[in-house]
Amino acid sequence: MTSADSSARPLPAGLHPDTLAVRTGIAPSAHGESSDALYLTSGFVQPDAETSAQRFAHPEQGYTYSRTGNPSVTAFERRLAALEGAEAAIATASGMAAILLMGFGLLKSGDHVVCSRSMFGSTLRLLGNEFARFGVETSFVSQTDIAEWRAAVRPGSTRLLFAETPTNPLTEVCDIVALAAIAHDAGALLAVDNCFATPVLQQPLALGADLVIHSGTKFLDGQGRVMAGAICGSRQLIDSVFAPLIRTAGMVLAPFNAWVVHKGLETLAVRVRAQSANALAIAHWLEQHPAVERVFYPGLASHPQHALAMAQQSGVGGAVIAFSVRADSPEQARARAFHVIDSTRVCSIATNLGDVKTLICHPASTSHGRLSEAQRQAAGVVQGLIRLAVGLEHPGDIQADLGRGLDKVQDLS
Ligand SMILES: *Cc1c(COP(=O)(O)O)cnc(C)c1O
Repeated sequence: MTSADSSARPLPAGLHPDTLAVRTGIAPSAHGESSDALYLTSGFVQPDAETSAQRFAHPEQGYTYSRTGNPSVTAFERRLAALEGAEAAIATASGMAAILLMGFGLLKSGDHVVCSRSMFGSTLRLLGNEFARFGVETSFVSQTDIAEWRAAVRPGSTRLLFAETPTNPLTEVCDIVALAAIAHDAGALLAVDNCFATPVLQQPLALGADLVIHSGTKFLDGQGRVMAGAICGSRQLIDSVFAPLIRTAGMVLAPFNAWVVHKGLETLAVRVRAQSANALAIAHWLEQHPAVERVFYPGLASHPQHALAMAQQSGVGGAVIAFSVRADSPEQARARAFHVIDSTRVCSIATNLGDVKTLICHPASTSHGRLSEAQRQAAGVVQGLIRLAVGLEHPGDIQADLGRGLDKVQDLS
């Protein structure tokens, strides 16, 4: 057998992201496998002591131990970086591990962060509670009020602005270009959690952000199998700040999980486009339903940041919808929302998102369940709110599934 394989030849420059998604990775092994190999190993045998010494001193020169590097992880990092238009990426054990690594790498006691109030719940707790214990203070501001972001910046101590767009569950959209300008005026960095839009719809680095955060657990895997995360950014930050830190701190991505999300990226674009098209059809249908009070979806003209979302997200609203059911009281709203959720037979009752299966959940009692009722009201997460992470089923079947409960809510006491 020869070791030559066509995919070992270097790729030409200027390829479209759809091509990069299936072609970027690492060279095949000596066997020339056509599908990416899975390097399910914790360690690597060294040819001799001198090479071993060199690789321990310079991890980029060769693999030694999977906490410091693994080929399956490298393949995923290269492919994700290519899709985000980033110089480099570093993979982490989960999305939250990526945010932990970012904070750990960039911040020290006395530093200040400005962050949207509408971020993922665990992100709010990590910054507001855990980082606060180490002397890092975070100001939480409105997702959409740019003036509030600017006013919250503290010259000299604000090191990081952190946003997520669209948000969970209300799909609020923030202006990445405007936030990048505020961050850079203050000598700070802008990081964007790109979990909902994915690089298929939105490339924050091209809009001026310095770092992109991913939960690979969601759309990048796309089939609800593994936990994963990543930071994308400049080679300088990845190689000299985050890589040395993760090798010491250890929140690395497992090789098997890296291999799964690496393969997931091959179908990311077709999944995100198809799931978004389904979501748009379902959002239009929901807006017409008499039992529905309001639909939150960036692809609808009724969305408050519709124009910004269309400009920033390649004209596509994404695959996550929130909607509220009509009711006269919070108690009735909750009962009606539960009825709609419990009447489904196709949708899965689950709080994940980005799966090819449509998932339905009640944010007020799950992702936002630990907030007080007042905090929930302030966040707009009312008792009648339902979140739908739209999958690849036929949209007509999902509409019928939602109609089963929605058509009957007025009959409930
Ligand atoms: C799920 C999620 C995270 C956290 O990712 P995990 O992989 O669950 O740790 C962060 N941000 C957003 C927007 C998410 O949806």
